[in-house]
Amino acid sequence: MSEPDGRGNPGALLEVRDLTVHHGQLRALDRVSLGVSAGEVYAIIGANGAGKSTLLRTIAGLHQPTEGSIMLDGTNVTRVRPERRAARGIIMVPEGRRLFESLTVEENLRVGATYARKGPWTIERVYELFSWMRDRRGQRAAQLSGGEQQSVAIGRALVANPRVLLLDELSLGLAPVVVQRIYEMLPQILGTGLTVLLVEQDVSQALRVASHLQCLLEGRTTLEGKPSEATPEQVEAAYFGLGGAGRGASGELGGDRALLGEE
Ligand code: ATP
Repeated sequence: MSEPDGRGNPGALLEVRDLTVHHGQLRALDRVSLGVSAGEVYAIIGANGAGKSTLLRTIAGLHQPTEGSIMLDGTNVTRVRPERRAARGIIMVPEGRRLFESLTVEENLRVGATYARKGPWTIERVYELFSWMRDRRGQRAAQLSGGEQQSVAIGRALVANPRVLLLDELSLGLAPVVVQRIYEMLPQILGTGLTVLLVEQDVSQALRVASHLQCLLEGRTTLEGKPSEATPEQVEAAYFGLGGAGRGASGELGGDRALLGEE
């Protein structure tokens, strides 16, 4: 694990530099930097209100930063409108799915294709990935379970043929077994050549899938590096803000092992 804030990653596909975002008076992100390499799964973890969704939404163009920049493949997209960013390949699966509930499964997928780039993902390919979906393509989204809705939301993002797929809390409100099933799809998705930046409160899930981990606390980076290099104590300290997080903190943490799935 390296020192927090300012990851040097020359050649990153997605690079965020010193991003500061305010919601009114509140500084939701404070000089956050990260670099996501092509083909990797980069996970942002953190407690409620840490600024994770604000980070993803700002990368997608839904919030304007006060300071800092967002580069996609060397091009500055900080001031590019959200739909133009989507057309360049920055596609988000938002927290809470946000499907059009009165539309059918297939109509939701077609919405995702509106700003589609050329690439391997088609509605047909999504039906191959989620085999149940084809038979239920005429069903309204409102009639689906939470896990099924999450799958449609992922499918809707995939048909846009992302270069960088932003996943905001896939696990929210879903049973652990459903979450696991959805995450098991990641290798097949990555196999088509895309890059994933995901936000998770479910730390054990994030640690399982991520090649790189960054923890936010109150809008600041408290830890970043390879999951294999992080001790559970370091992750807990960074997550809760205890005892010099990110600098080899250990002990005195109150032992909330559930955070790392070691209950
Ligand atoms: P959660 O897991 O609860 O979604 P998070 O880490 O994603 O948390 P954010 O949703 O980014 O955190 O919120 C960061 C801070 O910004 C919080 O204090 C939140 O209340 C505030 N905030 C987020 N969105 C807005 C908004 N649109 N207007 C005002 N404040 C906001």
